[in-house]
Amino acid sequence: MKLCRFDRDRLGIVEGEEVADVSEALGAIPPARYPLPRADLLILHLDAVRTAATELLPRAPRQSLRAVRLLSPVANPPRIIAAPVNYLAHQSEANADGGVHFDSNVKTIETYGLFLKSATALVGPSEGVTLGFPERRNDHEIELVVIIGREGRHISKERALDYVAGYAIGLDMTIRGPEDRSLRKSPDSFAVLGPWLTTREEIENPNDLRMSLHVNGELRQRASTRALLFDVQRLIEYASSFYRLYPGDLLYTGTPEGVGPVRAGDVMTCHIEGLGTMAVAVR
Ligand code: MN
Repeated sequence: MKLCRFDRDRLGIVEGEEVADVSEALGAIPPARYPLPRADLLILHLDAVRTAATELLPRAPRQSLRAVRLLSPVANPPRIIAAPVNYLAHQSEANADGGVHFDSNVKTIETYGLFLKSATALVGPSEGVTLGFPERRNDHEIELVVIIGREGRHISKERALDYVAGYAIGLDMTIRGPEDRSLRKSPDSFAVLGPWLTTREEIENPNDLRMSLHVNGELRQRASTRALLFDVQRLIEYASSFYRLYPGDLLYTGTPEGVGPVRAGDVMTCHIEGLGTMAVAVR
């Protein structure tokens, strides 16, 4: 199933070039009271929402996908967890270009581990990216994003995919420079997620997905998740060895080679096999 959020917090099922409005299915989410659970409520109750949405689908009003404004498919992720330097070819380009990485001896995820990006940076494709520091270098990083579906700690690689709700395309937008990653990657709108959530069972192997990113029609990044250093299962095992994972946590799996700067007026077109295509404007 491909679930999207669109317009004013509508819920949709994407089928081909159309979106079916199944917003009534959000009624399957029980009312929450203070203190709220550490989870995105839609992801926490995804099974119930899916059941209700499936019942609504045959008579749901439909419209063209082109006519709607797509929001982030996860509204309130508890965290954005992200992998630094998780592709060898990106390590090589970072070492060759001092503008990409302030350190002249860039290592990999094996050394750096993971970092956190502020969850408040999250936007959907229709909202676009706003550059708060246009005089600095602002880079695109296309990444496969894993949406965690269940709470868990010390999850083994073998069981890791049982904890996945689904997948989406992410942009880990980045200001280059010497400050800590968590600062440079957390300005408002610097985490894009979309175009929708593709549920786990639709993706046979998340470690074998082709991806591409074009800026104004020019190819910048093209790779496959086959080249991940820590694959999806190992990332979940590693992350959950440090902290408990919660429904709605987003795991940005790292970017392949080809990162580069964007400017106001650019449009980034992002594609990952099986997950769709999204166009994201830069302002
Ligand atoms: Mn990244």
